[in-house]
Amino acid sequence: MIKGIIFNIQKFAIYDGPGIRTIIFMKGCPLRCIWCQNPEGLMPHPQLCCYERLCIHCHACIQACPKNAIIHNVEDTHIINREICDMCGECVEECPTGALGIIGKEITVKDLIEEIQRDIKYFDSSEGGVTFSGGEPLFQAEFLYETLKECRELGIHTAIETSGYSSQEVIQKISKYVNLFLYDIKIVDEETHRKYTGVSNRLILNNLRSLVLNVRGKDIIIRIPLVPTITDSNQNINNIVGLLVSLKDIEEVHLLPFHDVYEKYKSLGMPYTMTIHEPPNDDRIRYIKDKFVEQGFTVSLWGVK
Ligand code: SF4
Ligand code: SF4
Repeated sequence: MIKGIIFNIQKFAIYDGPGIRTIIFMKGCPLRCIWCQNPEGLMPHPQLCCYERLCIHCHACIQACPKNAIIHNVEDTHIINREICDMCGECVEECPTGALGIIGKEITVKDLIEEIQRDIKYFDSSEGGVTFSGGEPLFQAEFLYETLKECRELGIHTAIETSGYSSQEVIQKISKYVNLFLYDIKIVDEETHRKYTGVSNRLILNNLRSLVLNVRGKDIIIRIPLVPTITDSNQNINNIVGLLVSLKDIEEVHLLPFHDVYEKYKSLGMPYTMTIHEPPNDDRIRYIKDKFVEQGFTVSLWGVK
């Protein structure tokens, strides 16, 4: 039985596809975008997280740990030795405040489908469905494929949020069972893309071009993270507009303004290298939105009132 690893199931979401949606957050991603808003999805394995602001310094976690993997430093904050922590979860059990947690759990296709099926009545009443997010859902291609297939058999609308960084074979194979692609385009210039995400964008752009030939344009929504001075530069926005115009069939664009997520990185003991901490301002967002609207695209601002 194929198992996947997920880190969250969010119910009653309304932004990630049509209607009321259940979002499955899957672990693992081959990119390392320095602004990543979901760092808990980067690693393919479970991780221990610790939110210091919830800690009352009772030291129950230290006493509970059979590996002696937790110590407190002189400021009474945690140092977790992640090399020896085996994710047993005993510290999580003992923590009285919920400051500690394990991010990520294994799940079978059958169990995930059972979970998704609980929401079918909401999908039916709103023309909603399930959205696979992450992390990068294509990173667990086989598990995703089997789950999508089951969803199709049950008549559940499916969407995936993807960076498009996967082999063409994988994308073509799963596209049979995907109703909507929420496809990220971050940076068009290849070297700049490599600098800020860790990978070339050639595969991503080639996959998008072949996807446009194989599925209806309205079944692909382009998502653009607006990261000040990195993705929101005039040059990059003009490049993205030009790319989408050249693809002809794309109709809709989502703009996702960056938000600072330093605390999430800190809780996971992961480095956060962003030096910009403010989201783009409203004028900048409006300016970028107009650039796409002028070319006939429908534009939604994600998470902006
Ligand atoms: S998960 Fe287990 S091994 Fe890891 S720090 Fe907590 S108690 Fe120790
Ligand atoms: S058990 Fe929880 S509240 Fe107590 S010291 Fe550890 S993290 Fe803090």
